[in-house]
Order: sequence, then structure tokens, then C-alpha cells
Amino acid sequence: MNECIFCRIINKEIPAQIIYEDDNVIAFHDLHPKAKTHYLVIPKKHIASMLEVNDTDTQLLGDLCVKVNDIAQDHHLEGYQMHINVGAKGGQEVFHLHIHLLSNA
Ligand code: 5GP
Ligand code: ZN
Repeated sequence: MNECIFCRIINKEIPAQIIYEDDNVIAFHDLHPKAKTHYLVIPKKHIASMLEVNDTDTQLLGDLCVKVNDIAQDHHLEGYQMHINVGAKGGQEVFHLHIHLLSNA
């Protein structure tokens, strides 16, 4: 069994409020929202952290950023924050790369 909690959400082994999904990306509500809107947008590929990305991930990271904006537009957010915690010393708690999409707009 996969120990990564976000891989388990991807595999539908544990529930989440999923708001978007395609072949490469899934987005869902953060369990403990820190803003009026707080989604997590993640690649389905397990990458533990930004500390592990390399040149082969350029397309994936670009697509992920564009997808964050698509989701923000779909949800009529007039402004938002994209936030990535990088590494344990950067505040990262779940080691599957994710972008926090936060908005009070
Ligand atoms: P990090 O500190 O790693 O950047 O953020 C991890 C985020 O994942 C936190 O905001 C936390 O609330 C959220 N989170 C942790 N476990 C779960 C879970 O099981 N389901 C969902 N939807 N969010 C989670
Ligand atoms: Zn994972």
C-alpha cells in the first residue's frame, strides 16, 4: 500500500473533495483551509518536493501552473496566491509536490 497520503487521494483510497481531475493533475479542498478558498493542486506523478525536480519536469510544472490559473478562473477568483512549501525546513508537511491555491477574493 502506498504510504503517500496524496497518492492515496489520487488512487481514491481515501476521500477528498475533488474539484478537478485529468490524466496528469488533480485538485481538491485542503482539509484545514487557511483562506476562504484553499485548494491543493498536485501532479498525479509522485514527486516528493520541489527539491527533487529537474529539467525533465519542466513541462509538468508549467502545466501545473496553468492549471492553477484555469481552476482559479473557473471558480471566479479575481485574485489569488500560489504557495509552495519546499522541504521540511520550508514548512512542507506532505511530501508529494503540491501548490496551495489560496484566495479571499
Ligand atoms: P504543506 O505544509 O505540506 O505545504 O501542506 C500540506 C497541506 O495538506 C496542509 O495544508 C494540510 O491541511 C493538507 N492536508 C494534510 N492531510 C490532508 C488530507 O488528508 N486531505 C486533504 N484534503 N488535505 C490534507
Ligand atoms: Zn505521492
